[in-house]
Amino acid sequence: MTATSADYTADLQLFIAGEWRGGEGRDARPVVDPATAGTIAELPVATAADLDEALAAAARGWPAWRAKTPDERGALMHKVAGLIRERVDHIATLLTLEQGKPIAQARGEVLSAAGLFDYFAEQGKRIEGRVVQRPAGERAMVLKQPVGPVAAFSPWNFPVNLMAKKIAPALAAGCVVIAKAPEETPGCTGALMRCIADAGIPGDAAQLVYGNPDMISRHLLGSPVIRKVSFTGSTAVGKHLMKLAADHVQRITMELGGHAPVLIFDDCDLEATLDRVVAQKFRNAGQVCVSPTRFYVQAGIYDAFVRGFAERTKRVRVGHGLDPDTQMGPLANARRAPALQAMIADATARGARVIAGGEAMGKGYFFQPTALADVPIEAEAMVNEPFGPMALMRPFDTEEEAIEQANRLPYGLAAFAFTENGRRINRVADGIESGMVGINSFVISAHDLPFGGVKQSGFGSESGPEGLDGYLVTKAVHIC
Ligand code: NAD
Repeated sequence: MTATSADYTADLQLFIAGEWRGGEGRDARPVVDPATAGTIAELPVATAADLDEALAAAARGWPAWRAKTPDERGALMHKVAGLIRERVDHIATLLTLEQGKPIAQARGEVLSAAGLFDYFAEQGKRIEGRVVQRPAGERAMVLKQPVGPVAAFSPWNFPVNLMAKKIAPALAAGCVVIAKAPEETPGCTGALMRCIADAGIPGDAAQLVYGNPDMISRHLLGSPVIRKVSFTGSTAVGKHLMKLAADHVQRITMELGGHAPVLIFDDCDLEATLDRVVAQKFRNAGQVCVSPTRFYVQAGIYDAFVRGFAERTKRVRVGHGLDPDTQMGPLANARRAPALQAMIADATARGARVIAGGEAMGKGYFFQPTALADVPIEAEAMVNEPFGPMALMRPFDTEEEAIEQANRLPYGLAAFAFTENGRRINRVADGIESGMVGINSFVISAHDLPFGGVKQSGFGSESGPEGLDGYLVTKAVHIC
């Protein structure tokens, strides 16, 4: 299925106080198909007056939404999930057009967003406090209550899933949300918001804005109406938002950058491991905060690993995401290719070898699936997240050395290890400093498990019961 320009334009609107708002004199910014670098639409951007109206609507809407029972909220959220599933082809097509990822990955992302609404519809019914024993006739209680209106900032790499990851738990907890979705991919997030609105969630409980990210975050966080900030994006922007949130002591959840190490031990099943790591590395063109990036390979199998990685990387089919044969689409925007090229130049100048790819490709923002071997730890790419289709390899001798290298950077989002040694699995899982560890697996994101980082990768969790906790505050009630 392809999106018609008519239904596409309908999805490119702000949603404020229950009203879809289009051009009407607002500034606009182009939306670009990364596969062609051509402009496919114009996105109206929010004015300061729009944001004030959104804040006023959130303040008005919160008491009514929090007063609903968890069953009532859950029923509406299940309807959202149903509408997302009904509209999966439409939303996934917009996602591929705007972001570039292969259509099968886009469908998976959209269906995962539906799953998040279903999961949190039920999880919202399990918000429980406790009663504490006191002398006869007296009680103390601990209550969990919604924190209040939320400002949610989600990025362009998984625009549908990551927006759902914030809106679903917030609504389930009894909070209202103003979502600033990514300007690069506004059609698919607009279509998601349409599912939320069409399901009957009140228009002042979930709102959607786009525009100048700096202006919007300053405006929303500058208001005492906002009680909670949830951000997914780069560590640099996260630090900036934490400073803004300090003025009103707004609560914060931060999902920031990572630089995932992968420890490949010589007792792993090498061929099966290679098949998995190469497929995973180039998923979403490597624009994944938990993308496997720093491959530390035990010396005895290093040469075989490098050879096998290069062979498989050269076979990855790159193309337009709407072509069903495509395994890797373009980069999502023009910013990444020059950054990747600079990292490759820096690494090779320090002695690294390009064993596959290494170049931008033709029209659009395509970049070859790329792998570098013998990369010195001082290379920029080994320090700063490439956030692209680039794998970096170097050998290690001992387990201690591998864990030390894995923990070397100030990030700690995801880490992976491949080994068949049971005792080592426990030592590695214990010793790695990261919010998530995958052992012989890259499946580390699930609706019912926490997703989040440590160190400069952020704090707080999304998904799972822990994901709901981020939208709740604790109150102790003492009754005599
Ligand atoms: P960027 O730092 O310019 O932007 C990252 C995200 O933050 C974008 O969604 C952007 O719209 C938003 N943003 C930027 N300035 C903001 C502000 N003042 N207020 C609110 N939101 C703001 O980087 P980029 O070039 O878009 O993306 C590349 C980098 O971002 C990567 O290196 C990666 O570390 C990070 N990133 C991380 C994730 C993740 O899932 N953790 C997702 C996307 C991007």
